Parts: sequence; structure tokens; C-alpha cells
Amino acid sequence: VVRKTTNAPGIITSGLQDVEIPTIPLDEFVLDKSGIWDARVAVECVVTGRNYTYSQLRTKSKNFGSSLRKKLKLQKNDVIAMLLPNVPEFPIVALGAIRAGLICTTINPLYTPEEIARQLTDSSAKVIITLNDFWPLARAAVQSTKTDIPVLTVDTKQGQSTPAGAINFSEFTDNAVDFPRAATSSEDVIFLPYSSGTTGLPKGVQLTHSNIVSNICQLHHPELNLFRETTADYQEVCPAVLPMFHIYGLTVLCWNLLSLGIKITTLPKFEPEMYIKSLRKYKPSTLYVVPPIAIFLAKHPAVKPEDLDSVEYLINGAAPLGKLDEEELIKKANRDIAVLQGYGLTETSPAVLTIWPNMKKMPGIEGALGLPLANTQVKLVAIDDPTGTPLGPNQTGELLVKGPQVMKGYLNRPKENEETFLDGWLRTGDMMYYNDEGFLFITDRLKELIKVKGFQVAPAELEEIVRNFPDVTDAAVIGVPDPKVGEVPRVYIVTRPGAKIDFDKLNEHVNSKVANYKQLKGGICVIDSIPKNATGKILRRELKMIYEKENSS
Ligand code: ATP
Ligand code: MG
Repeated sequence: VVRKTTNAPGIITSGLQDVEIPTIPLDEFVLDKSGIWDARVAVECVVTGRNYTYSQLRTKSKNFGSSLRKKLKLQKNDVIAMLLPNVPEFPIVALGAIRAGLICTTINPLYTPEEIARQLTDSSAKVIITLNDFWPLARAAVQSTKTDIPVLTVDTKQGQSTPAGAINFSEFTDNAVDFPRAATSSEDVIFLPYSSGTTGLPKGVQLTHSNIVSNICQLHHPELNLFRETTADYQEVCPAVLPMFHIYGLTVLCWNLLSLGIKITTLPKFEPEMYIKSLRKYKPSTLYVVPPIAIFLAKHPAVKPEDLDSVEYLINGAAPLGKLDEEELIKKANRDIAVLQGYGLTETSPAVLTIWPNMKKMPGIEGALGLPLANTQVKLVAIDDPTGTPLGPNQTGELLVKGPQVMKGYLNRPKENEETFLDGWLRTGDMMYYNDEGFLFITDRLKELIKVKGFQVAPAELEEIVRNFPDVTDAAVIGVPDPKVGEVPRVYIVTRPGAKIDFDKLNEHVNSKVANYKQLKGGICVIDSIPKNATGKILRRELKMIYEKENSS
């Protein structure tokens, strides 16, 4: 039974018993239990079928890491840049580099050369690992750094030749001279992912062995367990479409699932056909999603109810999933899928809050993000309160987190590090409250709240209301300047093809549900698509740029 306790007024914990966290490097943690499932496939590409067993993962990663040290002469704590979509080689590269005492910075392969160059320079990366197909992109990025970083490329198709100037990944890995495991402390940094850049430029987040191992152990608390144990005769399969270059895919999919002996089936990008094919072929019991994928499953006509037959748990994270979208999904499946939530940040490895299976039935849980993981404390603090005094129930404030999954700090950003930590607590920048049952609810991001006459309006609340108006398929709200009240909400909507929206009716629909100051006084505008990043977060600053352009001409 779940018990919620507070050990000090306003400090919220889950009441889950603390889990033990071993002091062991991540690569050992992930691979050392795998004796039982050595011969089983660890990762498989849905598109090409190429795959690696757990035992191949161990050997190849060791060889790859050795080659980085021996052939490229990389030194302890050097940074390697992984410019990779989800491919079976991803864990080989990361585990090998970590074993060799190196740090992995993961880069979004949809970035422009300039964006990639910025991360290469900021992280002082010494080598890039990418796919043959991304060679021109990597080359352009390297040129724009004005350095000569070597590039290793993985061939994903039979018979593909390595581009002139690149180093072939397989040859580099297979002819390795063994390099002994690097001496490590669990406080060594192993990953340097960048925050998504939703509210500013992406920041390099330093995560240690201990951060990632802790977060996995926290997710493995018996109360949260979603998977049947891997044995000699049984193995679950889980599709990995969420990008592993982002912390959600990296920890929750890649390391969490591999440490359980599950078979990960990778999709290099989200393609409806391929994703549906992976559901039909592999029959997963758990799906990790972000809102656009949950909405795709709920609303897309190509997804048939029977495609969801094997699914018991659907875990949403990274951005808010509306209640109505959840209901639509369950209606589509025509069965009782448990839709669970996870909340986290790059800075927290990422998981902080979650709903676990038996919590779904508890009163007061609807719409909540759940409770903190084991070994984690959170509190809410009034905006601009430097004392960090915790607020009580039903008061909205900024969420602060303390736990073993909290990052060491941002790379080379003393000012942000100072601002982000308050007496050892991490400020999340997210506005939340907890109800009388102790469950946490997110209102919106501090930086995205719209201020109408001093009242705060959360874009996410309006977006959910607008999205549920007939023929509206997506919506995003921003604040636009207003001479009288400071700022007013303006909505950008995407409509069903060919549909015409009656703006007066849409306004009436919104006005019947919200207070006067939240009304869409900044107007309604139809747009082809809402700009979003790889994990489904709305890029509101791009909409603000669109608005500024509209108004400057
Ligand atoms: P940046 O910090 O560079 O502006 P970012 O905060 O979007 O970018 P991430 O670390 O990828 O970068 O995302 C963390 C944020 O995602 C959280 O602070 C929160 O706002 C949002 N988030 C995460 N999980 C959820 C969830 N389940 N529901 C709603 N929002 C979520
Ligand atoms: Mg952030």
C-alpha cells in the first residue's frame, strides 16, 4: 500500500522505503547482471533488423572504448560527441566510452550544423560518432567549429561505403587492443546531455555514474515495477522511439531497460507506419511516450484498437498530457490501459515524480504527476522567496528537488549554477501545487506564465481547453504585449484538414471555462503546425517570433 508522509511540514516524500544504491560504474551496473540473458538480443533496429546480443554489447563496447583510448589517444574525462538517432550501436558507444573513463555528450541529429557546432565547442568534444548518412552534417558542423575533430561513422546499410575522411566504426571497434577499465569514482561525470533549450539556450548538464545508477534504482522500486522478470525462457520487448540523445530516452529507455534484460527495438525517427509495425510485431506491454505520440495513438485512424492489445502501461513524460487525450486513448484501446505519468528534467537524470500502477485507483490522483520517487524530497516555494520556506497544500509555487539523481551542475556556467541551487535544493523552474492527498500537479513553467494585470495565466491550461474544441487538432498559447494589462493570451491553432473554425464559438467555449483575465484577448490564429522539439515541447519562442513578424510588417 502506498503511504504518503511528510517528515517536515511542506517537505514531500512518497513514503516509499528508500532503495539501496550500489557504488558501481554505470556500465557495470547495466551489464553485470546479464549472465542469465547473455545470448538474448539487447537492441534491434526495427527498420533494418540489425541487432546485438547482451554478450556482443559487452564485448563491442569494451573494444570500442579501448580503441578510443589507444587509437585516438583520448584521455580520462575527454568528451565524445554522439550525433546519433536511436540505433543499436548507441549503447555500444556510450557504454564503451564510459568504461574507458570518457564523457558522452549526446547531440540531436536534427540540429543544424551551427547548433551542433555550438555544442561541440561548449563541451570541448574530441571526436564525433555518427551514421554514414549524417556525414555531411557532421562535416559541416566540424567546419563551423574551425577545428579538425575526427568523425567516426556507423554504416547502417549493407554495402554502404565509409565516406572519404571518416573513420569506419566497425573497423575501429573490431581491431581493438585491450585497454583496462579506467579508474573511476561514482562521482565522475559520464554524461553531458544538453537541456532542451525550451526557455533559453541549451545548457550542458553534468551527470555522474551515481546520478544515473540512482535514478535507475529509484525506478526499480518494487512498487513501480512494470515488467516481468527476464529469464532463460522469457524476455519483454519495448520499442524505443523517444530519442536517446535526450535524458528521458537515455535513462528511462536505454539504461533502465538494458539493466533489466529487456529487448529494446530502436526506431531512428518517428514514422507512423514503422511505429505501428513495431507494436504489431513485438507486442510490448509498456510504451514510453510523449504527448504527440500519445495523441497519435489516440486519434490516428491507422492505429487500430487491436494494435494496443498487448499494452498494459503507457507512461507519458516530458510535457503535459491532457485528461481528455488520455480518455480518448483508453476509448480507442477499448481496454483499461494504465496511463501513468513521469515528470523530470535533464538536471535530475531525469525522473523526479511518477504515478505508479496501484496509485491510479487512489482518490485525488486525476491529472496529477504523482509523488516523488524513493530517496527523493521535494517542496514548493513561493516565487522570489529566497528563504526556501515550503508552502502548504493547494498553494502554487516553484518545485524544488533534493535527491541522489540531482546533477553535479551545469558545465562552465557558474552564474546559472548559483541561481539553480538553493541550500542544496535544485530549482526546477516549474510551477506546481499539491492537493490534500499530497499528489503534485503542474501548472506550467515559471518562465512561460503569462502575466495579465499581475494575474498569472498558464498556457497549458488554455491549450487543453482549445485542443478539445471540435476540429482543432493542436494548439499553443503565448502571451503578447498589451498596452492596458501588460500581456494577453493569444492562441495558435492547427485544424483538421479542410475544417473551418468559428472563432466566436471557440471564444465562447473558452470563456465558459475560464476566468475573465484568462480569455484569449490576444486573438486566435490558424497555423499549419505547432513548432515543437524532439520530445514534444512547444517552442513558444518561435511563435513569439512569428507574432513579432506579423506585427512589424
Ligand atoms: P531548457 O531548460 O533548456 O529551457 P527544458 O527544460 O525543456 O529546456 P528538459 O530538461 O528536456 O529541457 O525538460 C524538462 C522540463 O520538461 C521540465 O522542467 C518540465 O517543464 C517539463 N516536463 C517534464 N515532464 C513533464 C510532465 N510529465 N508534464 C509536464 N511537463 C513536464
Ligand atoms: Mg529546463
